[in-house]
Amino acid sequence: MAYDQNNIFAKILRGEAPCFKVFEDDMTLSFMDVMPQAEGHTLVIPKYPAENIFDLDPEYAAAMAKTVRRIAPAVRKAFDVPGILVAQLNGSAAGQTVFHIHTHIIPRTDGIDLKFHAREMADFKQLEKHAGMVKAALQ
Ligand code: 5GP
Repeated sequence: MAYDQNNIFAKILRGEAPCFKVFEDDMTLSFMDVMPQAEGHTLVIPKYPAENIFDLDPEYAAAMAKTVRRIAPAVRKAFDVPGILVAQLNGSAAGQTVFHIHTHIIPRTDGIDLKFHAREMADFKQLEKHAGMVKAALQ
């Protein structure tokens, strides 16, 4: 499948769709997931037009990993959780629904199940607040 330049994350990268940004550098962008599976669910995407890991430039893969390494501890601190799930889905058979590669950073707490994947839209005021919490934890 050819990369769709109009997928929602491509639009976010071009500034044509909004997001609650937490971090950006030359090669990556990180923002809150609008349908979080847990409070604090954050995404990291590369500024590179790849659907999945199979067509991602290795330098951007490294940049993504570096940003995940930076954001995951901030999410853990901001939401005061004992665990963080880092996940990255490749292809619809693996559950991928947005075809611009991204890594999920999801807070986990013993005994609290994750919400369904990409199902329930969060309150935007909450997402704004959560983005602020992650940004503060990055300082
Ligand atoms: P995937 O299923 O491809 O691994 O994950 C896509 C993720 O993108 C889902 O967790 C879904 O909630 C999130 N998502 C879908 N549309 C948007 C959007 O417009 N903005 C943001 N910030 N996240 C989105």
